[in-house]
Amino acid sequence: MYKCLIRVSFYVVALCAFSINATAKDILFTEIEKHTKLGWTVSYQSNEPMKAVMFANSPDNSRLKRWLPISAEFSVNYINGREIATRKDGKPFSLVKFQLTPSYIHLPKSYAPFSPFSDGGMLVHSGRFFACPNICSGSENLWAMAIKAPVEDTIIVGSQKYLKKTSWWDKNDGQKFYIGQQQLNYNEDYISIVDAKLTQTVGKQLDTILPRMMSFLEATYGVIENKPMLFASFGETSDGSFGRQGGVLPNQVFMHWYGAATYHEQNPAATLWFFAHEAAHMYQKMAGQAVTPVDNWLHEGHAEMMAKKIMLSLVPHYQHFVEAKVAQAKGNCLVIMKSSSLPEQVEAGNYQALYDCGLYIYSSIESTYLKKNGTESLWVALMAQARNGGQLDSNELLSLAQEKYSLSKKDTDDFRRLIGIN
Ligand SMILES: [Zn+2]
Repeated sequence: MYKCLIRVSFYVVALCAFSINATAKDILFTEIEKHTKLGWTVSYQSNEPMKAVMFANSPDNSRLKRWLPISAEFSVNYINGREIATRKDGKPFSLVKFQLTPSYIHLPKSYAPFSPFSDGGMLVHSGRFFACPNICSGSENLWAMAIKAPVEDTIIVGSQKYLKKTSWWDKNDGQKFYIGQQQLNYNEDYISIVDAKLTQTVGKQLDTILPRMMSFLEATYGVIENKPMLFASFGETSDGSFGRQGGVLPNQVFMHWYGAATYHEQNPAATLWFFAHEAAHMYQKMAGQAVTPVDNWLHEGHAEMMAKKIMLSLVPHYQHFVEAKVAQAKGNCLVIMKSSSLPEQVEAGNYQALYDCGLYIYSSIESTYLKKNGTESLWVALMAQARNGGQLDSNELLSLAQEKYSLSKKDTDDFRRLIGIN
C-alpha cells in the first residue's frame, strides 16, 4: 500500500488496485497549504456532512492555541484527552479550515509538527494532521493528504520532488515532508537536506561519521532497501531555549537543532551518540509496532545499546564518555527497579527511563551471552518472530533472552517486574 502513491482529487476519489476498508463517504480530505504571504493553513473536507473533526493524536491540547479556525463559527475543544473541532452552533458541516502556527514545539512523545530551516524551508510531520470525520475509533489507518505550496518552493515527499501541489494516501505514524528552496544532496548512502547554518558544525560532523556508522550497522542488519532521507534543520528561538530532537520514520531520519544562532553542540561525544542512536533506528526494520508505550524501551534501548557499540568501535577515544553514560543509565534504572516500575515512570512523564532501563537490560543480556553480538542476534530473532506473527513486546523479548541468550531466571524475573509483567 505504501508504494501505491496515487493522486487524490478532492472531488473524485481515485482508489487504486489495493483494497481498503474506508469508503469515499468516510474519508476526510486533508489539505495543507503554504501560502506566499498568509502563512500556513490546513483544511478538512468530507463528502458527507459531519458534526465534528476529531484529531487522531492529541499528545497535549496545544492545537487550542496554535490552530485557529478561519471562520469564527468554529472552535477547537479538548475533551477527554482528545482535540475536537466543531461548529459552535452544533450544526453539521463539510469543510473546516485552520490558520496554523508553523514554529517548532516539543510535543510529549511525538514528533514536532514543524521543524523550520533557517532559510525559511520547513519539514512537516504529516501524522500531526491525521483526523477523522466525527470520531476516531482508533482503527483508522488511511489518510488522504494533499499539499499546496508557492511555485518558488519545492515539495519533497518520499524523496520525490513536486512543484505547486501533490497528494498521497498516508498511513501508520505518517511521514515528514519538506517544503522549501534547498536542493537535495545525493550522498552515497543517503539523500540529505542539511540546513546552511549547520554545514560548518554538526552538518559537517554528520557527513563525516554517518556513512561509517551506517556501514557498521549494515554489517549485521543488512543494507537498507531504499536510500534513506536525512533532514537536519536549525531554527533560532527568541526565549533563550536551545536543544535538539531527532527521530526516525520509515526511510527518514531527521534532526532538529534550535537555539541562539551562536549555539552549537558543546559536547562532541554527546552529538556522536545522538547520531549513532538515530542511525541505529534506521536499521531496526521494525516488523510491527511496539504494543504499549512501555514497550518502547525495546527499540529505544536497542538504539542506545547500538550507539554504545558504534562509539566504542568507531570513536574509541570517547570510551570514558560511553562508560559514564552506560553507568549512569544503569544507576538510574536500578533506582527505578528498587522503588518503582517503567509503567509508573512513563505515567509520570519520565520517558528517559525507557532509554536508561533499555540500555541496562540489553547490556545485562549481552554480558551473560557467551557468543559475540548478543544484542544484534537477539534483535534479528525478535523481528523474525514478529514477522511470523509473534508479538513485538517486552514479554517476548525477555522470554527469548532467557531461553536462548542465557539471561538468568532472577534477572528475567526482575526485568519482568520492572516492565510491569506479572
Ligand atoms: Zn530513539
